Amino acid sequence: MRTMEEMFDPMKKIAREEGYKFNPNKLELNDILQGMWDNEQRYGYPSCPCRLASGTLANDMDIICPCNYRDADIADYGSCLCTLYVNDEWIAGRMPHDPVPERRPKEYAIKGYPGINEQKGAGGGEMVEVYRCQVCGYLCAREEAPDLCPICRAKKERFEKFRMK
Ligand code: SF4
Repeated sequence: MRTMEEMFDPMKKIAREEGYKFNPNKLELNDILQGMWDNEQRYGYPSCPCRLASGTLANDMDIICPCNYRDADIADYGSCLCTLYVNDEWIAGRMPHDPVPERRPKEYAIKGYPGINEQKGAGGGEMVEVYRCQVCGYLCAREEAPDLCPICRAKKERFEKFRMK
């Protein structure tokens, strides 16, 4: 079982490379990380501490930190939903610190993320695949593999399509 520090260390390295910062308020940061670490102990994966996870990996794929919604939320609001990841504008107070609206479709929270279950996406959208990083085992459900693995930085070519048993 990794400690909270062991969970946080690789996140810091990747955030530096991505140009994101962490919430500079140490108390808030610690609370968010603690919630994520608790989820990792509870479910076996670091699901978002601001969202209720189902406890089934297949249903929670989109809310494993960093969630599928982080980049768009930071672009629009300067922070992710939990205010774990933030940008310079947010830190400087040039973006409001109002609550970030939930971007995750409600039906995903009810029925689970559709990629794994091979259902149509919300609103009849495209089906998504699950990709597995062959280097570190990171799983993500997206329309295509990420350019870089958010955990180990392996390139897109190192991802393979993954089928849940
Ligand atoms: S909202 Fe923030 S803390 Fe929650 S999963 Fe997304 S990136 Fe991680």
